[in-house]
Amino acid sequence: MTDDRLRMTPGPTEVPAAVRERMAEPTPNPDVEPAFFEFYRELQGKLGSILGDDEVVILGGEGILGLEAAVASLVEPGTRVLCVSNGLYGEGFADFVELYGGEAVTASAPETAAYDLEAIESTLADGAFDVATLVHCETPTGVLNDLDPVLDLLEAHDVLSVVDAVSSLGGTPVPVERIDVAIGATQKCLSAPPGLSILSVSEAAWERIEATETPSFYANLDPWRGAAEEEWFPYTHLSSNLYGLDAAVDRLLAEGLEAVFDRHRTVAERCRERGRELGLEPYPDPGLVSPTVTAFHVPGRAGSLAERLREDHGIVLATGLGERADDVLRVGHMGHNARPEPVERTMDALADVLE
Ligand SMILES: *Cc1c(COP(=O)(O)O)cnc(C)c1O
Repeated sequence: MTDDRLRMTPGPTEVPAAVRERMAEPTPNPDVEPAFFEFYRELQGKLGSILGDDEVVILGGEGILGLEAAVASLVEPGTRVLCVSNGLYGEGFADFVELYGGEAVTASAPETAAYDLEAIESTLADGAFDVATLVHCETPTGVLNDLDPVLDLLEAHDVLSVVDAVSSLGGTPVPVERIDVAIGATQKCLSAPPGLSILSVSEAAWERIEATETPSFYANLDPWRGAAEEEWFPYTHLSSNLYGLDAAVDRLLAEGLEAVFDRHRTVAERCRERGRELGLEPYPDPGLVSPTVTAFHVPGRAGSLAERLREDHGIVLATGLGERADDVLRVGHMGHNARPEPVERTMDALADVLE
């Protein structure tokens, strides 16, 4: 089937042919054949190059499952959670916390601004917290948050960190060694299809997970601890998706992480430079823009611009989310799409529809 549309959304991203072809291969029975466990452990090892030394868990379900599983496994009635936020995903963590009976206290900053370190510090000083949630890249606004100063505070207060790195992992460095639960997904910078969440879980997080009573079965991380070593899975794994992820990670490691990060930085700068030439500025403060996605501020025009790009040029972009739906036009330059050719083609088309 030919399909020459170019999808430059901040996830799902274009999936390269090598990944699609690998997914079409025959798959063994994941629960029965030892070769599959061997493959899975190797994949965990490769993912460790991106996610650090902690045990990697891969869940069958797209990115949201990873976020819910982290909360479901760490939070129970009585758990106090600091939800650090400057956007929709940051706020969304508080809903998950309350769903699982925890007490969420949110330290919010405006969505165009950096995390409010003073608010975080004073909230931490006010009462003991067990867990904190953070979002590395707030995809709806194209903000990349500086995690280190917050992680410093959390370490000083002995609070476990849960970080949504879904739209940054594999596109820009993530301080995974300092994070207790880092969450990624296949359909963003890894450029595999939607379908898997990827988490790295620290020893301290596993201890809390073991002690937590969760009502959830599918979103419980506990049964995954050491499962591949013991050669069993809590449920049948998504073998074709795992093959696709394996091919995607192979591509990334063959290119080299530093080269991949450079490529993202370079095309992000180019995207913004071309935007400036068209009179477009990013929505967030200039120092906060993510190398994986650019959200241009186009008040009241995002929907019509996106429609013309799709109808006249076969290019699919995303608009804003929530209240900003029509004010923000988002170009995803992540994963396989973080290359000059698709970015130039997108900006050529944007120049045309803006005329
Ligand atoms: C994409 C994304 C997720 C996963 O959710 P989707 O339903 O795939 O959009 C989670 N967090 C962030 C920051 C994301 O960008």
